[in-house]
Amino acid sequence: MNFTRRRFAQSLAASAALSRLPARALAQEQPSAPARKFGYCIVGLGRISLGHFMPACRMSQTCQVAALVSGHRDKAEKTAAEYNVPLKNIYNYQNFDEIADNPAIDAVYIALPNSMHAEYSVRAANALKHVLCEKPMATSVKDAQNMIAASKAANRKLMIAYRCQYEPTNLHAIQLIRDGRLGVIQAIESANGFNEHAGEWRLDKKLAGGGPLMDVGIYSLNACRYLTGEEPASLEAYCSVIDKDTRFRDVEETCSWTMKFPSGILASCNTTYGANMPGFFRVHGSKGMIHMEPAFAYEGLRLTAKIQGEPPIDEPNQQKDPYQFLLEADDFADCCIHGKEPKANGEEGLRDMQYMAQIYKSCGRSLG
Ligand code: NAD
Repeated sequence: MNFTRRRFAQSLAASAALSRLPARALAQEQPSAPARKFGYCIVGLGRISLGHFMPACRMSQTCQVAALVSGHRDKAEKTAAEYNVPLKNIYNYQNFDEIADNPAIDAVYIALPNSMHAEYSVRAANALKHVLCEKPMATSVKDAQNMIAASKAANRKLMIAYRCQYEPTNLHAIQLIRDGRLGVIQAIESANGFNEHAGEWRLDKKLAGGGPLMDVGIYSLNACRYLTGEEPASLEAYCSVIDKDTRFRDVEETCSWTMKFPSGILASCNTTYGANMPGFFRVHGSKGMIHMEPAFAYEGLRLTAKIQGEPPIDEPNQQKDPYQFLLEADDFADCCIHGKEPKANGEEGLRDMQYMAQIYKSCGRSLG
């Protein structure tokens, strides 16, 4: 596509997006304001924002980075220049609530340490903005419930950034199971972990709420739920700390848990901050099995399946990062524009919080 055609296509998409904006958002616009994309206010300029979500917004035909929230003015100004964000649309954590007066902001994307998700989600909802919040939703069940209540009271959408629920290879795995191609599902195995560095906020329970379970084990937990389409009826767990190198004063090093689903499916999962544990899942059914590895990475996902009477499936996903973030950002924008409920809504995030609380309880630990 040449430059002129691309600009034309973008302006058509932007006009279409504007025509679908809620009445209140349109009312806030100047009558003669040019067509614009759905505007995200990025809260927290860390690795996930700068390295993945914001580049995805830059690629989008539907949404864009409209505003920034950071405690570091220099970093915010540099980032604003890269994304054509006006300086007046830079906020800090103190004047954050002023986003209420900025009609260029339709939604906030919250990419802060876990324990800050609830406060900024509630403040954003009170400012009548939609909220796309990173996983894990919060660091307590109560905070997650407060986030849902605030969004409902403001009549605004709340989505938790479970990018794998929008990712085509994961969706294909779900479809194979729903279509009965694996027969009766018996068991799932999943794992996800990495070797965490000392000094990270992820090792501080006040900021993280927990250890690898909250951060990366949540992918296995969520996958077992979307692969089965069921909610765990019971679960048991163990946590351990093996390395006595001061990293794990606060949070678990490794966590292992088993879930039983109402159909009888058993799932066993592992997560750790003490080893590089590739993110994967295997689903075993009476007629075959699927193996996805990597299953939760930003790119390079690969689905293989062996099904009785069928040729083997080997499906590497060639799409490049940040494609998952683009799907997620566009889907949430679409939900807000059209008044649709996001698939990964607040209740979905809350359920994982409740299961993680049970997992920690089973280990003699606590969430948050
Ligand atoms: P990060 O440490 O790179 O960024 C955190 C940001 O929060 C920084 O800009 C930092 O300045 C800011 N911040 C504000 N107050 C802070 C405080 N008191 N302590 C530390 N930082 C503070 O973290 P990240 O890896 O970008 O993770 C942010 C969130 O995104 C987490 O909730 C994490 O679970 C989630 N995440 C999601 C994915 C995904 O694939 N969906 C991947 C990585 C992280």
